[in-house]
Amino acid sequence: MTKSPVFFAPVTPQAPLEELCEALARLLDKSRLLDRLPSSGRIAVKMHFGEEGNAGFVRPDLVRLAADRLAARGAEPFLCDTNTLYKGRRTRCEEHLVLAREHGFTLERAGAEPVVPDDSKPENVIEVRPGGRWIQTAKLARVFAQAQGLLGIAHFKGHLVTGFGGALKNLGMGCASREGKLAQHSTASPIVDPKACTACGACVEACPAGAIRLEGEAALLDRGRCSGCASCLAACPFGALDVDWASGGRTLQEKMAEYAKAALDLQKGRCAFLNFCVKITAECDCLANDEARIAPDVGILGSEDPVAADQACLDLALKAAGSDVFQAAHPGRDGSRQLAHAESLGLGWRGYDLLRV
Ligand code: SF4
Ligand code: SF4
Repeated sequence: MTKSPVFFAPVTPQAPLEELCEALARLLDKSRLLDRLPSSGRIAVKMHFGEEGNAGFVRPDLVRLAADRLAARGAEPFLCDTNTLYKGRRTRCEEHLVLAREHGFTLERAGAEPVVPDDSKPENVIEVRPGGRWIQTAKLARVFAQAQGLLGIAHFKGHLVTGFGGALKNLGMGCASREGKLAQHSTASPIVDPKACTACGACVEACPAGAIRLEGEAALLDRGRCSGCASCLAACPFGALDVDWASGGRTLQEKMAEYAKAALDLQKGRCAFLNFCVKITAECDCLANDEARIAPDVGILGSEDPVAADQACLDLALKAAGSDVFQAAHPGRDGSRQLAHAESLGLGWRGYDLLRV
């Protein structure tokens, strides 16, 4: 079996921030992982800035350790995420950036500025053909193509649809434009909640395909005409349009792996990944609450291979928990599908050599 090296800095089960900072510094020093990235030009540090009220996202003090090392090598790191499909403070660029700064992602605290591209503008979106089973043309934020390298920083945790999420999810879903995110959800078209709809007509105005009309007291969506562009999701001021989050777990994982391949195709050989396998929760950092841990903190992992990094996190988290806590939290969701499909696409290997530092 082919194996990739995965560096691992273990921590104690409820590791405080100070201990995490020491572990990350050790990992970066011993692995020299950041030396694999270009030493000049802009490096995209792909982040999740955390939804308002969420406490699982990777702290700015930790991000700073990586950003400072990139800058010391001569590169210009910037912290980057894309807007979400769901309604929250990360739906639109302006508010997303305000929230990122509130969470400490500033030059002063995190060592680099946050960037959230406006993917409603076509010039900010790039199309890539990953050559997979489901996705003919992936739509990603162009900013990831314009950078000279990519450092993925992911919080490894559970997820409602994909079972768990780490480096692959941070790449596949996280680098996609809003339209690309919607394409990864199997039903592609949004759904209308007639109880929340006020028939204000904002979605009708926003829809470029003429796929929505007002009928009676609510908006009505014509799936046959809908192109899945997701413009209406951002336009609705009442949260009455949403994605069918519970559907299509297996297919979505495969589509997500194909989007991850598209993102990697933009930065071949110029990527590194840090997975924070700590504060492991049942749900992702898009939820607006401070969720309880479902497994003890494991540590920080680093690799050039996102598949191996996620597989190692999964194995270590399940071993630390003593049972399959992700299956228990989301019965019927087998998150390992994303790893198998990513391996079949050539993104990396599920086999790994764990190198403790
Ligand atoms: S996703 Fe796009 S095409 Fe479909 S209804 Fe919404 S705005 Fe119209
Ligand atoms: S924008 Fe929202 S509230 Fe307004 S008509 Fe469309 S679905 Fe209903």
